[in-house]
Amino acid sequence: MANQEDKFKKVVSHAKEYGYVFQSSEIYDGLSAVYDYAQNGVELKKNIRDYWWKAMVQMHDNIVGLDAAIFMHPTTWKASGHVDAFNDPLIDNKDSKKRYRADVLIEDYVGKLDTKIEKEVAKAAKRFGDSFDKEQFLATNPRVVGYKEKGDAILQRMGKSLENEDLADVKALIEELEIGCPLSGSKNWTDVKQFNLMFGTKLGASADTAMDLYLRPETAQGIFVNFLNVQKTGRMKIPFGIAQTGKAFRNEIVARQFIFRMREFEQMEMQFFVRPGTQKEWYEQWKETRLKWHLSLGLGKDNYRFHDHDKLAHYADAAADIEFRFPFGFKELEGIHSRTDFDLKAHQEHSGKKLQYFDPEINERYVPYVVETSIGLDRMFLAVFSNSLQEEELENGTTRTVLKLPAVLAPTKAAILPLVKKDGLPEVAKKIVEDLKWDFNVTYDEKDAVGRRYRRQDANGTPFCITVDHDTLNDDSVTIRHRDTMEQQRVKISEVKALIKEEVDVKNWLMKM
Ligand code: ATP
Repeated sequence: MANQEDKFKKVVSHAKEYGYVFQSSEIYDGLSAVYDYAQNGVELKKNIRDYWWKAMVQMHDNIVGLDAAIFMHPTTWKASGHVDAFNDPLIDNKDSKKRYRADVLIEDYVGKLDTKIEKEVAKAAKRFGDSFDKEQFLATNPRVVGYKEKGDAILQRMGKSLENEDLADVKALIEELEIGCPLSGSKNWTDVKQFNLMFGTKLGASADTAMDLYLRPETAQGIFVNFLNVQKTGRMKIPFGIAQTGKAFRNEIVARQFIFRMREFEQMEMQFFVRPGTQKEWYEQWKETRLKWHLSLGLGKDNYRFHDHDKLAHYADAAADIEFRFPFGFKELEGIHSRTDFDLKAHQEHSGKKLQYFDPEINERYVPYVVETSIGLDRMFLAVFSNSLQEEELENGTTRTVLKLPAVLAPTKAAILPLVKKDGLPEVAKKIVEDLKWDFNVTYDEKDAVGRRYRRQDANGTPFCITVDHDTLNDDSVTIRHRDTMEQQRVKISEVKALIKEEVDVKNWLMKM
């Protein structure tokens, strides 16, 4: 645990030191759970968004994009169920005065059981060596099976209680499990209460005519209310999808995990409209497609897992999370939800406008069912960033800090470095910058010894350093140093562009899907 906390602290401080993420309004001591993306962060975030958009919109001829406004007619949120049911169960500790989400306290308890299982697996793998069969061990080891059954039973009970609005039982569960306040250890809890997460605001100049609005808590509703407009003007045939990226706002109860849980964040959502009765197939297909997208980035297969929901939201008939191994354990990164016809039907009822599709193949008119994929851009940023940050022991006994971002996502693709600041080398280096910057984000750096400059670029996540030396003046070649392997390669200046393109091209990465 101490190790995990250490790692997480390093992630947060590295993000600041290297211009990725700053606390919002830091000069005024910051605003809790709100963050700004700095010069490198904004590029990484944009590259992740583009990587998602290309995979979802550009590569699917039946998915189109949308950019709906953040403000929406207030009835939207009545229809969607957010006014009545977008709540989190909160609980206060009477001694420490700290506030928590009751479901998160319970989930963290189960997370500790998962950690115990992982430890047993690691121990057994060591003991049995090559003959170790993980699946069999998980299915038969009594201790592991016990932990798993206990965890499942807890989550099931919590799911049922939340679904039935039985908040007294949620509190009873916390007490039975003897869960203490993570900060103080105190088990002196208040009752569990529901808390609505939407931010309210007002539209209009005078107090008496002003209209109460909400900042959208998800981008999905902007897609639903535009369903028919897009379908008609785009002449879309079911099945088809509408994708959108944009800001969402939630007044989160607990916000202590950096950009994992923010009050203002960005979502990348896609709603896929299907014929009723086919939603299960599409749900399975989108689970698989989305996982493949994640795996294409090479952050490691073992760092992902599915978590099927016991507790279903009011709109869903099936739901699963893709969880990622963050520095603080496995947590939700993306949700895939089979939302039925709940949203379109609700908007139909509240607006009085038909939101139906005539299916020429079966000669029937119906309200489509929807399968949604919903990922937090900031959470994806944290997944990529935390996974990439590594401390490496080198052969000469020193260590280096390196940010092994997937090259396709790296903010700066190459740094061009003249070996020395004279003899015409800066001029050649700057010429290379001028040429490459049409295609890639590149940077020029002439300060300090070249070894230090390499380290700086390693920590920045730049996949290539291109060094111009005295030989360059005669042979028109430069040295390319690869961030991850530290290998150096001599290439003609005329070949540099193709070499970088090969490594950072979205196509080459998405082809791994
Ligand atoms: P959680 O259980 O962690 O609160 P959720 O199940 O409420 O998340 P969804 O409503 O399914 O989340 O939202 C879809 C995605 O949006 C999540 O998988 C997550 O990546 C992202 N997300 C949700 N809330 C936040 C937040 N407060 N800060 C950053 N990202 C968020």
